[in-house]
Formats: sequence, C-alpha cells, structure tokens
Amino acid sequence: MPVAALTSTPSLALRSTQAVLAPPVKVVRMVNGLTKSVTVQPPAAPKGAGASAQGTAAALTFNMGFVGYDHKATFAAAELNPADQDMSTVTIKAHLIKGFRYTAASSYLYAYQSKGSAPAASLSLKGPSDTKATALSLKSGTFTAKETGDHTFTWSVAKGGKFTGAFDATIQGTEPPLPKTTGSTSLDAMLQRDVAWWHAQGTTPSVGSTQVMPGVWALSPGSARQQLSYSFTTASQAPTAILKNDFPSIGKDKQFAEMDTNQKAAARAALAYISSVTNLNFTEATDGSGNIQLGTYDMSARAGGAYGLDGISNLPASYPLTDKVYTFLNARPSGYVGDSTAGTVGWSEIWHELGHALGLKHPGNYDASGSAATGPFLPSATDNQQYSLMSYKSNAYTEGVNNLSYMLYDVAALQYLYGVNAAGSTAAGDVAGAGGQFSFSDSTSVLSTLYSATGRDTIDLAGLSKGSTVNLNAGTFSSINMLSADSKAVRQYSGNKNVALAYGSKINKVSLGTAVAADTVVLNGAFKQGAFNDINNLQSCDRIALSKSLFGSLTAKNIDLGTSGTARSKDSRIVVNQSTGDIYYDADGSGSRCAAVKIAAYRAVAGAAVSSNTFAFVA
Ligand SMILES: [Zn+2]
Repeated sequence: MPVAALTSTPSLALRSTQAVLAPPVKVVRMVNGLTKSVTVQPPAAPKGAGASAQGTAAALTFNMGFVGYDHKATFAAAELNPADQDMSTVTIKAHLIKGFRYTAASSYLYAYQSKGSAPAASLSLKGPSDTKATALSLKSGTFTAKETGDHTFTWSVAKGGKFTGAFDATIQGTEPPLPKTTGSTSLDAMLQRDVAWWHAQGTTPSVGSTQVMPGVWALSPGSARQQLSYSFTTASQAPTAILKNDFPSIGKDKQFAEMDTNQKAAARAALAYISSVTNLNFTEATDGSGNIQLGTYDMSARAGGAYGLDGISNLPASYPLTDKVYTFLNARPSGYVGDSTAGTVGWSEIWHELGHALGLKHPGNYDASGSAATGPFLPSATDNQQYSLMSYKSNAYTEGVNNLSYMLYDVAALQYLYGVNAAGSTAAGDVAGAGGQFSFSDSTSVLSTLYSATGRDTIDLAGLSKGSTVNLNAGTFSSINMLSADSKAVRQYSGNKNVALAYGSKINKVSLGTAVAADTVVLNGAFKQGAFNDINNLQSCDRIALSKSLFGSLTAKNIDLGTSGTARSKDSRIVVNQSTGDIYYDADGSGSRCAAVKIAAYRAVAGAAVSSNTFAFVA
C-alpha cells in the first residue's frame, strides 16, 4: 500500500547564512603564549527571531521562543565589530526553555593582551531568576535550563586582556528526546522516536508505573499532551504555503479539497478508537484551528503508484511555530482510496496517516516517498498488518483484507506514548457502564484489535455461520468466523488469527455462535484476579480450552464432572458443577475443593451436554 510519512523536518529559519558581510580581517591569536597569525572570515550577522547585534556594546539577543519540536536550533555567530578590539566582556542573551539541554560555545574566542601570554577567559550564565551568575565550562558549556526565559551568557577575559573583534558564539538547544528504548524491540520499531510525539515544549519524558505489555511501562503522566484538536480543513483554509513548500512538488494547491463524509467518519472513528485505548482526548475545531489538519489534494504527481501516494502526513512537532501537523489524502478520483467506509483501503489509509500524525512510523525499511526509513525495524514475522496497521506488508492472515483498526503493536505504542486508558473500551454500545458488545458480521472480513479495560464487554459471535476460536488472553490472536482451516501456505483471507486482544485487555465474556459450528474458548487468567470467564450459548460441539501455561499439564482424568461442585478425587483439578454451570480450578489436589477458585461459568443451549470431551488442553 503506497503510503508515506513526510519525515523531513521543515528547516527552521534560524540558521545563519554564510554570506560575507565584511572583508576578512587579520587577527592575532594568542594561545598558551604562542603567537599565531591567522586570517578568519567574519561570521555572518545573526539570523532568526529576535536576533540582533548590538554594535560595539557586544550584546545581542537571540530568541529561541518557539514551541514543540525546537530541535537543535543553532544560533551561529555574531560578528560584533571587526574593527573593535577592546572588549573585555561579550554578552549574549538567549531565550531558553526549561528542560532543554544547551551547549554554549565559541569558536572565535580570540583574546590578547599587550604583553605576555594570552589572558584567561571565562564563561558564565545567569538565568532570569538567578541573583548571580554561575560559571560554565569554556570547553563544554553544557547545561539543562532550569527555567524558561531570557538567560545571559557572558564571556570575559581576565583583567588587562581584551577580546578581538572577531568573536562568535553558538548556543544550541536540544529538546529532551524519548528514552532510547521502550523496553520492547517490537515497540521501538513502531516509534519515530526523538522528539516526535505530542508534548509540551521542554518535556523530559520519564517512565511511569502503568504497564503496557510485558517489559513496557507507559511514559509517566505529564510526559505527553492529553488534549489535541483536529480540523477538517476546507479549501479556503488550505495552508497554501505549506502545501507548496513542504508537500513536495504539489503545485496544485487549488485542487485542495475538504474530506468527504465517509473520510471524515473514518477519521473520527480512528480518533475515537485512540481515545478508547489511551489517555488522549480529541476535540473537533470547526474554525480550522486544529492541531491535526485533515484534507485532500491531488497527489498524482507524486511517486508511489500510478495515481501517486494514497496519503501523507507529518510527524508531531513538524511545525513548532504553529503546533500543527497535516494529514492529507490523495483526492484524485482514482477509485483506489475514494471509498473510505469501514473495511476499505481508504478507511485503513486514514487510520494509517493519523498513526503518523501521532508519532508512529513504518515498522519496516520502506517509505513510499522514497526517503530513507528510520530503524529499528520489525522482523519479517511481525512486520505485517496482523501486528501493525503501519506496516505495508501482508501475511497469510491479512492477504486480501484491510485493517479495521490499529493492531497489537500500534495500540501498545500509542499507549506507551500517551498512557493507558484504564477505563477504556473499543466495544460498541456500552451504555451507562452496562458493558458493550464486540460484534462481527457473517458477511464481512475482519482484521482488528479489541481492547477493554473494564471487563464488562462481551465478544459476541451471534449470527456467525462459521466456527471461531476465541483466545481470551491479552496480547493473543483469535480466529473469528473461520472460512477455512488455518493454512499459512494459502495466502488469502481465511478468518484465522484475524482479531487481536490488545495487551492489558480484560475480556472474559463470550457469547458463542449457535450455528452448527464448533467454537473454542481459550480461558484467560482472569480467575487469578478473582474474576472468571463467562461463556454463553455453549453447545455440545464447543470446546473450553485450558492453557498449560495457566493450569499446568492436565488430561481428561483431571476433569471432575458432577452436580455438587465438590471434588471427588485427588486427581480433580477442574471441577464442573453441571447443575449450575460453574467451573472450578482446584490447584492443590486435596480432593476437598478447599483451594478451588471459580474460573468459569457457562450457560449451555437447550439440550447441550457438557462432558469431558468439552475440555481441550492447549499449550
Ligand atoms: Zn505511512
């Protein structure tokens, strides 16, 4: 699927030019008593917001007051006055941002005195709340700003010494990036990293205490923004300059068009899904001011296929001055992404681009725009749309079907950045806390990920004509409405391993299909937390599967069927009360059910019988 992230960062107009403003001047450089005559080119005048040279007063102001990305903005060089060689201090004021790490350095630090060796020089820093300046190392004046505001850097020479007129300084600010690893190589492959996530400027992200998946904890609250707005940009609101400058070779901004009704619905559905799994909240800004701007334009001139790209999106913080990203679809009426109803390429395309808009990257080494992709990457076994909607690749389970939602790794990566919604659910129809339904249709293919933190929601297989295997353990795949046997050799949609349960999900309710097709429910570990699996519409042909990893090695002799719920032998591990439908796990083998816990309750359909054959033993 030819889709692309626009990964280039628009250059910030803060770099000094190399233009020569004055002829080279000859200066005498005195270091450690050695005298060396060198010729240097006077550096250019300062550029950038608020930057100005203050003449021979040797003071200039450099304003770094932009938001968001602010990545390695470099203030390079200020020519104070080539003719002036009698300064004992040089002062530079810079607007610094709390949490950023800064380096102040001078490459033209030429000091002299009339006799003897070169005088000692020093550098000090005074923050807006400081009552006195503190020393910084001349060689590596690196520090983290403790507050936001105008800071004063002062280069001084010892008494009797002077700076020459050729002096420059570079103050470089680097925003705190994301941690080097999430704790999972799989999630590391999903994130653009660096500073490409939505956050307040200068945020220093730290790891919190909420588990996303084994080995991964979400960033702590405050590490990311939780409120974002979005807008469906109209043609009259089209960001003409950005389209021309940063969306390569468009030249067709007049063809900018607002998203259609289905496209808007797909975008709203994607954002609602993200709100359900993370702590991000989205509001629609109807005045065009949204942080995420959605629209369409003709991309047929772009590489990526006969009709050009399907869509393109910036990464977070691409435009720090405006705090916006742009997510555009190809408006060319090719029919390829024209339909954006659920299950179409157009639908998954919008979700994909919004993934970029929030900081997700492709998990493989490819990019439709042809630019170099950023690693790390997923191995081929997981670099596919079964694990991530951000992947370009299909596997045996995803061939011929489009993602209906973000998948396992997408959800976990978004939760890592923006927190885990501890009360969230992607089920439909959860009214007043009564619990919703994860429903499926017999007539449509499905490739999606379910999430429920509430434990109230039910996987509902009613109406399906084919059998399903529902694995209630978080971070696993279920096979819903299997059209054919599981065969990796056949690369076409089969309904196998098509529905994931997101990490951290607590789903323990399932209502089985009542067609003459066998369903299997793999019990989850919820009984360990005092909940139990709730199975409705159990038929004689259905199976309840017990995982070896949860229950140990069991065989049919460990299944104790009766009407009292009391274990009858020391072999009894699974005790079934056929009168009430309650199922207990007796871990201690005491035969007294003393240590038994209720792990499931079933309601069989009329005439169905539960026998030892009902139970299956899986890895
Ligand atoms: Zn992409």
